[in-house]
Amino acid sequence: MSTADPELVRVAVLAPVRGLFTYAVPAALSSGVRPGRRVGVPFGRRRLAGFVVDRIAAAPQGVVPKDVLEVLDEAPLLPESLFRFLLWTADYYLHPPGEVIKAALPAALANPPALRRKVRAEATVLEAPRPLTPEQGVAAATVSEAVGAGCFQSFLLHGVTGSGKTEVYLHAIERTLALGRGAIVLVPEIGLTPQLERRFRGRFGREVAVLHSGTSRGERAREWRRLRNGEARVAIGVRAAVFAPVEPLGLIVVDEEHDPSFKQEDRLCYHARDMAVARAKFASCPVLLGSATPSLESLSNVEAGRYRKLELRSRIDDRQLPPVDLIDLSGADRALLHEPLLRALGETLGRGEQAILFLNRRGHAGSLACRACGHVEGCPDCSVSLTQHLARRRLLCHYCGLSRPIPERCPVCGAPLVPLGAGTEKVEEEVARLFPAARVARLDSDVGAAAIASTLRAFRGQEVDVLVGTQVVAKGHDFPNVTLVGVVLADTGLALPDFRASERSFQILVQVAGRAGRGDRAGRVLVQTYHPAHPALVHAARHDYAAFASEELHRRRALGWPPYSRLCAVRVDGKSPVSTEQAARRLGAVAAERIRQSRLRAAVLGPAPAPIERLRGRSRWQLLLRATNHAAVRSLAIELQEAADDVGPVRVVFDMDPVSML
Ligand code: ADP
Ligand code: ZN
Repeated sequence: MSTADPELVRVAVLAPVRGLFTYAVPAALSSGVRPGRRVGVPFGRRRLAGFVVDRIAAAPQGVVPKDVLEVLDEAPLLPESLFRFLLWTADYYLHPPGEVIKAALPAALANPPALRRKVRAEATVLEAPRPLTPEQGVAAATVSEAVGAGCFQSFLLHGVTGSGKTEVYLHAIERTLALGRGAIVLVPEIGLTPQLERRFRGRFGREVAVLHSGTSRGERAREWRRLRNGEARVAIGVRAAVFAPVEPLGLIVVDEEHDPSFKQEDRLCYHARDMAVARAKFASCPVLLGSATPSLESLSNVEAGRYRKLELRSRIDDRQLPPVDLIDLSGADRALLHEPLLRALGETLGRGEQAILFLNRRGHAGSLACRACGHVEGCPDCSVSLTQHLARRRLLCHYCGLSRPIPERCPVCGAPLVPLGAGTEKVEEEVARLFPAARVARLDSDVGAAAIASTLRAFRGQEVDVLVGTQVVAKGHDFPNVTLVGVVLADTGLALPDFRASERSFQILVQVAGRAGRGDRAGRVLVQTYHPAHPALVHAARHDYAAFASEELHRRRALGWPPYSRLCAVRVDGKSPVSTEQAARRLGAVAAERIRQSRLRAAVLGPAPAPIERLRGRSRWQLLLRATNHAAVRSLAIELQEAADDVGPVRVVFDMDPVSML
């Protein structure tokens, strides 16, 4: 390079474009244009922000670099190890690097000028750490030791419901702060578990910064800055908090690590649990994954020696896990609540105790159908039936949000329409009708965030006797006066076309059962089902995680599903059913050809129409790339990504390690 040659850098532009772009550095900006710095660059006819990735000696063939226009920050906006981790994430998920960096920045910073909000003062009560039980003590000491050592290590904390996992997290974080480092705590849905947030604030006060979607843009930007400048050192939040600017990072905790909400299904399709492990590696710190029902992926990582397992086998104060009885509905009448559950509910209320009734379907009826001609009211834009919501007097599509009045008669033949299948609204109504003296409340995503918080508060304060709800009620809540949990129908998720259907059903049953008997009085659980012999139910009823896992792993191995293989879902969607199918078939053919040529030990499953074939007016097809290791899936996906650029008027999304199969 002659002295006249300008210095060259590669920039990740904050725009949905693959790859890095080369720019020249004017001499005047030379000192500020360093890796990790945010700069302004010309992009097409626009001026965009981007991050400098590295310097290079020569521009790629045929590229005439334009000049960097300005340096936007005096100090790097992102900590260095976080920046490198984000570039790695982009690479892993085959996603534009600028888009990944954007996901890590509060919107206000990704799109300057930044908003500024007034800092709201928070009252904090500090409730003192508790003496740990011997099991908790061993777990906390082991993790604390790893924190002290300051090197990467993954732990799986398998603790039964009510065993006090949170207290272990709190202790390990205390140790982390004492060493002058910070921590990230990922939780599935913090809005649904305000109690957890209170416990962290109670212990760490203003050191806590909360990052979740419920907070305003400005507030999120404020919390982000408090973390970035070290005012706060404990970031608690939902999946995106894995990108929180905590530096130096001493520990990452993932609570309820099995929860599917850690997977983002749109834009950057990432799994926050997996990224937590990767980030810990970048930051050279331990990561602690906790659950009563660990994902089979994590369990197999333990078996392969990659994760170290820590166990809490008993509940606090040696309380018993509640006995679970399965109630066989085959041959039963069409009632919603059957005799054993009704009796138990009556007894529970009679003793002044509380109950939770769980049904994983919101609304009043699952669908509205015509008895005469069989017509089912469906969504015109999605291939699903509409759900009847009596409280709002509407039929709603649970996928696209379409809302229409409830028709009186069948639009095809004019006969009356009848509701099929019940939802939480109907359960609430039934309980109120059968137990007029009981105070009943409902908790599901039809209830707004504010109402969820106030309902949880009322239930905790024992102003509500029976709480009816969807999975929201199964989250980590700790209500000591709940002695009965009733599952209205355990079968809703069993038949989904998803290889994890059984695992999900098991997890959710164990979790919801775990809400009973957490206080001084023993609890019990009644589960209504048409499949009392299903392994997921049988093992959940015995709280037998080990037996379920070994049986399910056996099945997965036989069928070649994860954790015994790696997948990448290739989703194709478009306005026209014909061109969508054509594009999917074309990609399938390219993949098959590539496998043949290279003798890759990989397979392509499909293409096939997605189980939900139409969504928001678009046709959907998918194929699955499957291999025994990530590298093989990845190399196949990269080739398909090239091919996908010109397969027609469709959108193609690559979802590495997919979770949703619908
Ligand atoms: P998990 O998350 O494992 O289901 P939690 O962390 O919610 O359990 O703890 C269950 C209950 O036990 C909570 O009310 C918690 O305050 C209490 N608890 C936890 N650890 C202790 C301890 N060492 N001594 C007394 N109570 C504890
Ligand atoms: Zn719809």
